[in-house]
Formats: sequence, C-alpha cells, structure tokens
Amino acid sequence: MIYFDNNATTQPCQKVLDALSEAQRADWANPSSPYRASAVVRAKLERARADIAECFSVSPEQLLFTSGATEANNTYLAHHYHHLGKDQRILVSSIEHPSVSEPANSWFAGRVDWMPVNNQGLVAVNEVEERLQAKEYGLVCLMAANNETGVLQPWEAISQICKARKIPFFCDATQWVGKMDISALGDCSGFSFSGHKFGGTKGVGGLVSKEPMHPLIKGGRQEKDQRGGTENYPCIEGLRIACEERLISDQAENILRKQWRNEFEAKVCALIPGTEVLGGKVARLWNTSLLLLPNYENLRWVSLLDKLGFQVSSGAACSVSQLKSDKQGLAAMGLGPLQIRRVIRVSSSWRTTERNWQDLAEAMAAVFTKLVQEFGESSVISL
Ligand code: PMP
Repeated sequence: MIYFDNNATTQPCQKVLDALSEAQRADWANPSSPYRASAVVRAKLERARADIAECFSVSPEQLLFTSGATEANNTYLAHHYHHLGKDQRILVSSIEHPSVSEPANSWFAGRVDWMPVNNQGLVAVNEVEERLQAKEYGLVCLMAANNETGVLQPWEAISQICKARKIPFFCDATQWVGKMDISALGDCSGFSFSGHKFGGTKGVGGLVSKEPMHPLIKGGRQEKDQRGGTENYPCIEGLRIACEERLISDQAENILRKQWRNEFEAKVCALIPGTEVLGGKVARLWNTSLLLLPNYENLRWVSLLDKLGFQVSSGAACSVSQLKSDKQGLAAMGLGPLQIRRVIRVSSSWRTTERNWQDLAEAMAAVFTKLVQEFGESSVISL
C-alpha cells in the first residue's frame, strides 16, 4: 500500500502510539477526581498543555483541547454567535472547510459575506481590505492552507489587518500545522489544529484563543468551563509527542519534497495530455497535488489506483457523501460540476519517498491507458 491521502489523515507515529498506550495503561484515572492518582494525571495533562502551547508560542491558558479541528472550528464560531450583536456580520472565505462554512451559515444565517478566490483558489488581500473598509465585521475567518488544493492563503497579512482594525481573526490551520512554519500562528485571535493530520491520533486537537470560549459542549466544568467532558489524557499525551516529533519542520527537507511533487506533476501532465494542476500557479503546501484529469469520473481513477496499491482521494474525505459543501471551494475557483467530478487529490507525508511519487505517476499512466481501452477517449464522465 502506497498511501497518498495524508490530507485526510496520517499514519500515527510509533512514538505517539507507544506514549498513548502507556498512558492508557498507567494514567487512566479521571483527571478531575479528588485523589492522588488523579492529581498525577491532572499534572501530566497540564504539562502536555504547557509543552504544546510552547510549541505554538502561546500561553497554556489559551489552549483548549478538543476532539479535533471540527469541534475547535465549531466552538470558535459558536462563541462569536453568542457574543456578537444580532445584526453583526462576519466575513468568511469561500474555500473554508465545511466545519467552518456550515456553522457560519447556520449560526449567522443571512449575516455571512463570503470572500471570493481567484481561479487558483487564492484569496486576495486587497479585496479583503476593501471589504473591511466598506463594512463593519464582527469576525473574519480564513484558513491557512486549503485542504484540497494545498494553496497557501495570505492569513498572516489578513491577521495583521484585522489586528489593526480590532476585528477578531480566526484561522483554521489544520492543514498548515505539521507541514509549515507555525511561528506566526500565535498572532491570530484564534486558530485550530488537529492531531491526526501530523502523526497524532484521531479524536484529539486544539483550539487556541486569546479569549476564553463559551462552551459548545456543556455539562461539565472541564477545560475551565469551556468544554464539558472527561479530558482524553492518553490521546492528549499522544498529541504532545506528535507536536514534539513533527512541529520542528525541516525546511530543507520540505523543499526537496516539494520538488518530488513538482516532478510528479510534470510527469503526469506529459503522460496524460490535458491534465491540469489546480492552484499550480501559486504557492502551495509541499505535499498536495490537486489534478483535474482530462477524462473519466474521479471515483474510477481512485478505485483503479487502489487496485494497483495506491490510495488517493476524490476530494475531502470527511464528506465524500456530501458533494455539495465539500466542493464549494472548487466551485468558488470557477470549476463546473462535471469538472469537479474529474478531480483527484494526491497528498504525501514526511514518509513519502521520491520513488513513491515516480511509481504513482507511472500507475496513473497505466490506469489512463486502461480507461482509454475500455471506454474510448471521448468518455468524459462515465459511471
Ligand atoms: N479543517 C480542515 C482544513 C481540514 O482539512 C479538516 C480535516 N479534513 C478539518 C478542518 C477537520 O478536522 P478533524 O478531522 O480534526 O475534525
């Protein structure tokens, strides 16, 4: 199995699994209980909070543990729903993950303005600035890197503009953290991240916020009244190790990894004429390649590649069944419904080798030949 779907999830690091299972075995006491075994776990939990906060250069009080980025994003939006005036509007990018766009739509119905993107999937700083001059907003949301295209967004510039105007700025940094330099994130009013995107396990992540959050999940006093529910200390310990292992990102290695990805794209475009790299003209994450293929339904490509041992995605995994909202980012880039059905996403990790990329390009060429033989070249979409 050659795994190329790391924007969906990554394989947990061995050290994370070891630390997590040791914590499950030895530190299973409820951190909130009033005896010594619990005090030990509580102290370890707070040690993990302090260590992770230090990685992001924020204070431990600003870090709230959640079940992942979906919950973190929902929490941040719910908090602003409770605290903003009932006529205040929010500005949200049109390429946000559904865990931002759907809560924005439901809690701020009729009060959301969507920032457009160009055909490369990039938000323009000057357009956002113009909007902020024209109207008053209670919150601005822009993700750091898009999960489908990998396009890096101008979140640092927009965060600074919002800071000068005293508007809260929220950044969904789920695809950024573990791949890019995180030193500027602490400057945002809030940001989210998720352990399973960088070698941690599923079900744990964080929300960093400059102000205490109104609880989305009520019914317990945990996390200083900001999130009810027994703290998941073992997974939090795993998250601490994942941060230790993966947040010191070696830029030299990432430059090399980007080169392998670029060579793969050049090879695929040469072997499969008519292929287009979406977002290929602007800066992207080093690991992501979103390909608009000339022919055939993406699920066909995905299943034939799967048979050859390569796992790639037809789009964001969290919502394969809800084509509407998970593809809104591609529609915002100007892609039509039939084009959206010809897109596949390939995403590598720190484990992926140059050879893996080369083999994938060859496998794609083999799949293309097979599809042409079976359906002919004119079969644009066939299911
Ligand atoms: N935001 C982005 C940009 C993502 O890519 C994802 C995961 N697909 C999420 C949020 C949701 O993360 P989680 O799986 O931790 O809920």
